[in-house]
Amino acid sequence: MLKINKKLKTLLLYIFIIILTLTFFKIIYDNSNFTSIVTKDSNIEEKKVIEKNDYYKINVLMPKFDNIKINSICKNYIKGYIKNFKIRCDRKYKNTLTVDYNLVFLDKYMIIFFNIYDTTNNKRVNKSIIIDTLNNNKISVEDFIDKKEEFNLIVKNKINKKYSKDVSKILNKVNINNYDIFIKENIFYITFNDLKNNINYVPNINFKISKKINESVFKEVNSKNNLIMKKYIALTFDDGPNKESTNQVIDALVENDAKGTFFVLGSRIKYNKEIMFRQIALGNEVGSHSYSHKNLARLNNKTFEEELNSTNIIYNEIMGRKINLLRPPYGSYNNYVCENAGMPLILWSIDTKDWLSRNAKKISDHVINNAKDGDIILMHDIYLSTAEAVRIIAPELKEKGFELVTVSELARLKKIKLEKGKVYRNFN
Ligand code: ZN
Repeated sequence: MLKINKKLKTLLLYIFIIILTLTFFKIIYDNSNFTSIVTKDSNIEEKKVIEKNDYYKINVLMPKFDNIKINSICKNYIKGYIKNFKIRCDRKYKNTLTVDYNLVFLDKYMIIFFNIYDTTNNKRVNKSIIIDTLNNNKISVEDFIDKKEEFNLIVKNKINKKYSKDVSKILNKVNINNYDIFIKENIFYITFNDLKNNINYVPNINFKISKKINESVFKEVNSKNNLIMKKYIALTFDDGPNKESTNQVIDALVENDAKGTFFVLGSRIKYNKEIMFRQIALGNEVGSHSYSHKNLARLNNKTFEEELNSTNIIYNEIMGRKINLLRPPYGSYNNYVCENAGMPLILWSIDTKDWLSRNAKKISDHVINNAKDGDIILMHDIYLSTAEAVRIIAPELKEKGFELVTVSELARLKKIKLEKGKVYRNFN
C-alpha cells in the first residue's frame, strides 16, 4: 500500500512537471504570434453609428483613426455599406444591420475586418479593407498577396479538398478580388461572401501563413503628428498701412511663422514706405484696395481708372514691382469693374467684422471656430485689437493643422490659376 502510494506520488509529480512545461511553451507560443489583433480595449478610438426608424435599425461600431486618410477610407466604406443596406430595405419587414470590427496588423499592412450581420440578405458576412500603411492607401487582395498564381493554387487545392465537386466548381470561379479575407493569429481565412447562394452559410477556407509583423505599423496609424493633413488659410488685412497697428500685425505674423496679405490704400502708401518694405521683406503679399476707398461699382469710368491706376503707379514707383491683386472696397463690384480691373478680385469667405467689435477675443473666436481649409479671412490692420487678435489666431490655427499663407500662395497650393477680372471668395 505504501509502495503504491509512493509510485502515485512520483507519477503525480511527473504530471505536474509536464503540465508546467506545457504551460510554459503555451506562453512562448502565444507570444510568438506574428500578427497582432487589436481588440476593443486598445487605445484606438471608436465611432458608433446608431439609426432607428420604423423600417430599419442600424448599429455600427467602427474604429476612428487619427490618420485622416485612413479614417476617411474606413468611413466611406461603411457609409457605402449603410447606403446600400437602406436601398435593400423593403418596407414589409424591419431590417437590421449590425457591424463590429477587428484590426489585424501584418507586415506594413493593417486589415480592418468588419463582422457584418445584415438581415436584408440574411447573412453574416466578413468584409475587410487592407491598408498599406506606408502610403496609407487601400489595396486589393491581389496586391496584398504578392504571387497571385501561387496563392490561387493554394486556394484551389483547399477548396477541392474541403468541398464536393459541384461546390468546388463554383468556388473556383470566384475572382480573387472578391475574396474576403480575415487573418487571425497565424491563420489566413478566406470567405466567399459574394456567392449568390440562398443558403445561410458562407463557404470558407483557411490556411497557415508565415509573415512577420512590423510593430511600428500600429504606432504609425495611431500617431497624430506626422499624419495630420496640412490645411491652408489666408489672413487678409485691408485699409492700411497704419503707423500704429500695421507693424504689430506684421510682428504677430512673424512670431508665428505666418504670412498675410495686405490690401493697401494708394493714398496711404507714400507715407508708410517703411512698413510696406517690411511687409514684402518678410514674405507677405500686398494687393490694391484702391486709392481712396471709394465704392468702385458706383464710379464713372474716369474716376474708376484714377482710383486703380494711381495706386498701381505709386506702388510701382516706391516698391519697384507690380501690384497683382485687387480687393474692391466694401467688396463691391459690377461687370465694368471686373472687365477693367486688370487683376483678379479677391473677396473673402470669413468676415471677422473686426471694425465693428474692436474686440480681440470676439475676432479670434470667430476665426478659430469657422476656419476651413482654403478660406480667405477679412480683417483690417488699422486697429490694435486686430493685431491682438492675430496673436491669438495664428498659434491656434497652427495648432489645428493650418498653415497661414498669402492669397497667391493659397491659390497656387490649391492649383487654381488666378485670372484677371474673376472674383474669388475662397479656395476651398
Ligand atoms: Zn476697406
